[in-house]
Amino acid sequence: MSNRTLAISESIYQYLCDHSLREDPILKELRDHTYDMEERAMQIAPEQGQFMQMLIKLIGAKNTIEVGVFTGYSSLAIALALPEDGRIVACDVNPQYTSVAEKFWVSAGVREKIDLRIGPARNTLSELISDGLTGTFDFAFIDADKVNYDHYYELCLELIRPGGLITVDNVLWGGATADDSINDTDTTSIRALNDKLHRDERIDLSLVPIGDGLTLAMKCG
Ligand code: SAM
Ligand code: CA
Repeated sequence: MSNRTLAISESIYQYLCDHSLREDPILKELRDHTYDMEERAMQIAPEQGQFMQMLIKLIGAKNTIEVGVFTGYSSLAIALALPEDGRIVACDVNPQYTSVAEKFWVSAGVREKIDLRIGPARNTLSELISDGLTGTFDFAFIDADKVNYDHYYELCLELIRPGGLITVDNVLWGGATADDSINDTDTTSIRALNDKLHRDERIDLSLVPIGDGLTLAMKCG
């Protein structure tokens, strides 16, 4: 028994997966496809995808944002959890990655739910604000270049409605954020955002040790 978060050994992780994962076959197919790519570690873990699907359903999310698509695993998981009229504005700069994503979105029958915007996400999010969409989104997932995390957070906070949820990926960064001797720009960017969010009274906060660390930031009403 433990009254602190358990360290997850290989066997505990296996048990967790064996006793909770319900990965949709199309998500599994996309995971297998991405496994052959050198950049495969960029993809979220399946248990994290399932957790995010539950969050989406819990808050009844309809309008969502994804910052960082890659081959589309997290956007596909989000799309599958959304209602029929749910939408995702999905941001990425790399059309090679997103061409894989599009293929799987089509196979899964969710292509219509996803508004793919190729270009720097800071521009895309700023455009949404200029288009008058401030306060109209329910959920955002931030998982692109780490040096821009603070900008993505601030822009998403503007776009999200009170009671809506921003999720930020890789906040533990393989343990680097907790290690003062590691000070590359990715690590210091994530660490700075973690520090800021801890003090940020505009949100309710939880840092969940799933995957590489997922922060939940709920915008206060
Ligand atoms: N969420 C994805 C998944 O679960 O498969 C993984 C996203 S991957 C970690 C990060 C993505 O951010 C890459 O596909 C990369 O092309 C994209 N990216 C990098 N810089 C960006 C920028 N300035 N604007 C938008 N996307 C960017
Ligand atoms: Ca990630």
